[in-house]
Amino acid sequence: MERVLIVGNGYAGSRAAEALAGLGRFEVVRVSDEEHPAYCRHLLPELAAGERNPEDLYLPEGESGGPAGKVRSADAVVRFLPDARTAVLASGEEIRYDKALIATGARVFVPGKLRDLFGQLGNVRSMRRIGDAVSLRRALGKKGARIVIVGAGRIGVLLSEALKRAGARITVVDIAPEILPTMLQNEVAAKLRPHLEAEGDLSVLAGRTVARVATDRENAEALHLSDGTVLPCDFVVLATGVVPNTEFLEGEWGDRADGIPVDARLETRHPGVYAAGDVIRFGTLTGRTEPGQLIVNARQQAEVAARNIAGESVSCPPLFVGNVAKIGSVLGAVAGDVEGSGHEDFRVGESFLRVTMDGPGITGFQFVGRPEDLRGLVPVVLKRVDAAWLRQGLRVSTGLGLVPPFLAEARGWV
Ligand SMILES: Cc1cc2nc3c(=O)[nH]c(=O)nc-3n(C[C@H](O)[C@H](O)[C@H](O)COP(=O)(O)OP(=O)(O)OC[C@H]3O[C@@H](n4cnc5c(N)ncnc54)[C@H](O)[C@@H]3O)c2cc1C
Repeated sequence: MERVLIVGNGYAGSRAAEALAGLGRFEVVRVSDEEHPAYCRHLLPELAAGERNPEDLYLPEGESGGPAGKVRSADAVVRFLPDARTAVLASGEEIRYDKALIATGARVFVPGKLRDLFGQLGNVRSMRRIGDAVSLRRALGKKGARIVIVGAGRIGVLLSEALKRAGARITVVDIAPEILPTMLQNEVAAKLRPHLEAEGDLSVLAGRTVARVATDRENAEALHLSDGTVLPCDFVVLATGVVPNTEFLEGEWGDRADGIPVDARLETRHPGVYAAGDVIRFGTLTGRTEPGQLIVNARQQAEVAARNIAGESVSCPPLFVGNVAKIGSVLGAVAGDVEGSGHEDFRVGESFLRVTMDGPGITGFQFVGRPEDLRGLVPVVLKRVDAAWLRQGLRVSTGLGLVPPFLAEARGWV
């Protein structure tokens, strides 16, 4: 029986393990540096807010009946030697393999200046693992706990929304002038921000950086910002972006901020070694190369990699590029490529829509408003429809809902 080593047991690793174990032809060995079974990272804010327990986040074991292969938990691959088809674990164990999948995801990227300022302070964490969320939850045990979130990207925003519900006093700090700086253009994000600040005790301090941290040596007590603001704090969350986990790889593909290079079949430059999920970048519909950073991409790539490991020859479809942040009853959403120069703004029902165009074709959109007004838009981007068609559709009083060919598909996407 061929042995397949899967490094990492997140969405990509666990999905590939299920697919391969289901074939019954492979011995699947998974190595996870976490002590928990595979779990839903997107529920970490709810765990931190006390709305869920750790076990609620666990992914069910796959359709293949019992656990998909052996899992070495709480142990990490520290050396990966493709020429020798061997991986060395932190525990000292060596695992030989015939084929391998690297699915080690990403960790929070903390810029050097912040690393120097925060060092190893006990009440400063990121929000990537169950342990991070559990630590924050403990801090929330104090009534009116003061939480500072550094980074107003999607994770910072979703976390602050959950902590609001838990009654925390939250400040979100970002160097960028608006929230969600890598997701929405500033003018679009500015329409969403009042909803974030609307209820609870939450303020966004944009366009500022952390200049100094006052500590009692073990914990951060207050953050001094570049504009002189002083923020006393009980807990600090660093949500400053992510970087792929490649530091255990050696030589030319080791420690790569841009992820592991793969071909269309997700095979690395080492035959028989594949990679999938947040640890790679891949091509989009419009020909860019980006990190997927979505569950849907990690799962799809894992399935393609598993089929290729099993002997098929399958190319992976382009990345789905899009994201949603729900704030109260309002959605901020983006799909496709929104960096083109031409754009046009629309009102859809009570919502705001900005589409980006490449010539007459739509490459992407940004949206702020009611979920029901979003219906139908994602397929518009996936099919790269003509902007004239959208204008026509939006002139109809019931909006996008009347545009027939995309309506049925829309249900699957939104
Ligand atoms: C707070 C938060 C909210 C999110 N919300 C959403 C959302 O709403 N929708 C969405 O689609 N996506 C969301 N995401 C992103 C989504 O979780 C990721 O895209 C997805 O987890 C990627 O799956 P993966 O398997 O590639 O990596 P991961 O899930 O990160 O799993 C990789 C695993 O490999 C382990 N590992 C790393 N190095 C080693 C090593 N050397 N040896 C052994 N194990 C190792 C890691 O510890 C981890 O357990 C969110 C992420 C976070 C953190």
